[in-house]
Amino acid sequence: MIPPLGILGGTFDPLHFGHLRLAQELVEGLALSEARFIPAGLPPHRTPPFASPQQRLEMVRLGMAGNPLFSLDEREIFKPTPSYTVETLLDLRRELGATQPLCLFMGADAFLGLTAWHRWRELFGLAHIVVAQRPGVAGITRAAATLPAELLDELNRRLTNEPEALRDAPSGAILVHPVTALDISATQIRRDLAAGHSPRYLLPDAVLDYIQTNGLYKDTNGT
Ligand code: ATP
Repeated sequence: MIPPLGILGGTFDPLHFGHLRLAQELVEGLALSEARFIPAGLPPHRTPPFASPQQRLEMVRLGMAGNPLFSLDEREIFKPTPSYTVETLLDLRRELGATQPLCLFMGADAFLGLTAWHRWRELFGLAHIVVAQRPGVAGITRAAATLPAELLDELNRRLTNEPEALRDAPSGAILVHPVTALDISATQIRRDLAAGHSPRYLLPDAVLDYIQTNGLYKDTNGT
């Protein structure tokens, strides 16, 4: 049986311990082969990142260094067009074959907005979705009343509590898995830096050293 592969997309502007813990806990908790970090080039749903693609890539590389469960995928970062997850997954499918189980990681907040994603229904045919549930935060099942009807329909059909479901098929399940709540965001880190405060202990020292050496985020208001 082929162990499922985890995928974590994001802007990583910059990478922080919230990202790293999420990936570590999902890979170990669900017995996945690895977590592949895929930094976005031009994210479609938000303002452009502050750091350059090269700098964000370097920060992810530095932050994950030495972890054999993590890998870095550069397929989106230098694309001149918006990075759509559905296209990245199609690409991975072509590369890894039809039977490799893929698990797309996302926070519960991202899942609640899934219907805004480009060709969102196709995602279920390409990967499982693993929603990282932070304890104490209202879960997606409790937020069900606020979900768009078509997403609620998919959730009802696909939701499973069985990690084995991630191995039994290459795609199509939705699994909610608890992760340690770390209330860290890249936005807050950028704001700290812009205000002259240290974000130390919120992100790896190597990433902070890189930020300081390159004078990143000093002149932004962090948003
Ligand atoms: P920003 O503050 O700039 O919006 P961010 O900190 O949310 O950035 P992203 O690169 O947008 O970081 O996040 C990538 C993925 O990591 C998303 O699925 C997001 O839900 C998840 N994530 C980010 N921070 C955390 C955290 N502290 N705990 C759990 N998941 C997180």
